[in-house]
Amino acid sequence: MKNLKRTSAEMIFLVLYFPIVVFGYSIYKYPDFFIKLGLFENQQSLYFLGKHPSFWYSLIYTLIVCSLALKVILSGSSPYKKGKKNPLVSYQRNKFISIFFIQLIFFFIVPYIIPAFSSSHGFFSDPITPVNKNAYIYISRAFTSWGGFLYIFVLVPLSVWFFGKRYCSWFCACGNLAETIGITKWGSGWVKFKTPRGDLAKKMESLQTVFLSFAFIYGGVLFIDLLGVFSSSTLSEGFLLYQEFIVDFIFGALIGVGAYPLFGTRMWCRYGCPLAKFMELFGRYVGSKFKVQAGESCKGLDLCTKACPMGIAVDSYAHKDKKPTLGSFGLSNAPCIGCGGCIDICPVKALSFVPVAK
Ligand code: SF4
Ligand code: SF4
Repeated sequence: MKNLKRTSAEMIFLVLYFPIVVFGYSIYKYPDFFIKLGLFENQQSLYFLGKHPSFWYSLIYTLIVCSLALKVILSGSSPYKKGKKNPLVSYQRNKFISIFFIQLIFFFIVPYIIPAFSSSHGFFSDPITPVNKNAYIYISRAFTSWGGFLYIFVLVPLSVWFFGKRYCSWFCACGNLAETIGITKWGSGWVKFKTPRGDLAKKMESLQTVFLSFAFIYGGVLFIDLLGVFSSSTLSEGFLLYQEFIVDFIFGALIGVGAYPLFGTRMWCRYGCPLAKFMELFGRYVGSKFKVQAGESCKGLDLCTKACPMGIAVDSYAHKDKKPTLGSFGLSNAPCIGCGGCIDICPVKALSFVPVAK
């Protein structure tokens, strides 16, 4: 892994970044801990202007994502190739339009604005409620409601069938942050120089299978519990603690987002997210019409590999000793999220998305 030369402004940012992420997310996720520590008197004192901490967390998150997405849309320039001579292609424009509206509507207005306006308490007086710690990407939720089941086992697989894992670069809230931070000046440097690459980094992706297995086992426990066949609060609470603390808090938030500057923007998406592994396995064993194809114009510049936030050796499919090999990859051989970064950055247009032939 090469070193990224850091400016002093970036160094100051780095020193502040991790503690802010840790502290901010901890308050959001575990307010009771801070109350017990005596830092806050009660849950009410964590509220600002009558709003729950989760509102402020999501507002800041949405402002970052939407402002960066809007900047790309309005600039009309490629987010991967800098300079006015490189216009924004329709794929990237549509992707950032999707990120903007999905984040704003589905991850902010629907969960935080509409319920607050329609509640009897008034907009600036949220009721004292426990934090909702259920991350929507957990497979386990699909075992507890019809809505969750349809989402995970019908909608997501359908999207994988038609679009590969573009869900991760066009729709998911975690992916929205990764995509937008990943095209900033610093973020693109983190992707380029800090993303783990090579054989070991690839082998470690099997860690995600472990998280997926736990998600299924936990889902099974919840389902059996729902049916009333067997009930063990110790078992389900143990799993819940593991999901919330180890998977979501430590790995998803602190390592996944907190370590953007150290391991690139897709650490969680590559090694942790159970849904990502589920999508990949569906694409591999059931099918997906998604493929990236390398063409004859490849000159062996390898910019594609450096632009890939998922650490895929795109160049290995495109050329051998700078001679085009016309290779291709899809979900059967790569965890590609269809962000299009490799395609956009290539100056000789050697890569493209193609539908898989029957
Ligand atoms: S890998 Fe998981 S967290 Fe990352 S973008 Fe995809 S669904 Fe979201
Ligand atoms: S291979 Fe290309 S499209 Fe796929 S994740 Fe990497 S940069 Fe994005």
